[in-house]
Amino acid sequence: SAFSDLGLADWAIQTCKELGMRKPTPVQTHCIPKILAGRDVLGIAQTGSGKTAAFALPILNRLAEDPYGVFALVITPTRELAFQLAEQFRALGSCLHLRCSVVVGGMDMITQAKALVSRPHVVVATPGRVKVLLEENPDIPKVFQRTKFLVLDEADRVLDVGFEEELRVIFQCLPKNRQTLLFSATMTGNLQTLLELSANKAYFYEA
Ligand code: AMP
Repeated sequence: SAFSDLGLADWAIQTCKELGMRKPTPVQTHCIPKILAGRDVLGIAQTGSGKTAAFALPILNRLAEDPYGVFALVITPTRELAFQLAEQFRALGSCLHLRCSVVVGGMDMITQAKALVSRPHVVVATPGRVKVLLEENPDIPKVFQRTKFLVLDEADRVLDVGFEEELRVIFQCLPKNRQTLLFSATMTGNLQTLLELSANKAYFYEA
């Protein structure tokens, strides 16, 4: 199939072309239409499969139609992955003037809180730091009141590190009617439990 078969806007198809993405990868072909249709997704996909664009493209398409508040919160296990994800979001969202903030440990919390209060479109974060901000700064939970998408990237690794408590706090601060997108290299029982915290029945993708 082609990017033009997936329901994406013309600007997104053009951006893919400019970034040298000639045709969608399998995870993109399967997941993009489901996410655009409003489904939750549990995707089993490895790094290198194109999974980032599989969730970033439909999120950016929905954002372009109706931008408000912090539209998407993307949780990932490490700082390095957070910066890489933000870079892909910025590249794919370049023609939307996308504002994307990275919230990870080891950086100044006051600066991060200010960045969040300015309501970037997309926040890419590690679980520990976002939990601390949510709990210690009374202005931060409000920032996520209308968040439309929660993405858990490398969800198996997030769970391996033992971030259950952090995830519980984060899930509680997000609206019930959000879409939840979980991507993981392996299927674990814990993922199913996590998914039960979301309201909708998820589409399951495995290569
Ligand atoms: P990921 O699996 O998300 O870590 O992506 C791996 C790499 O593949 C990234 O550098 C992307 O820019 C690239 N990529 C993603 N989708 C495509 C595609 N459809 N065609 C070519 N490259 C892609």
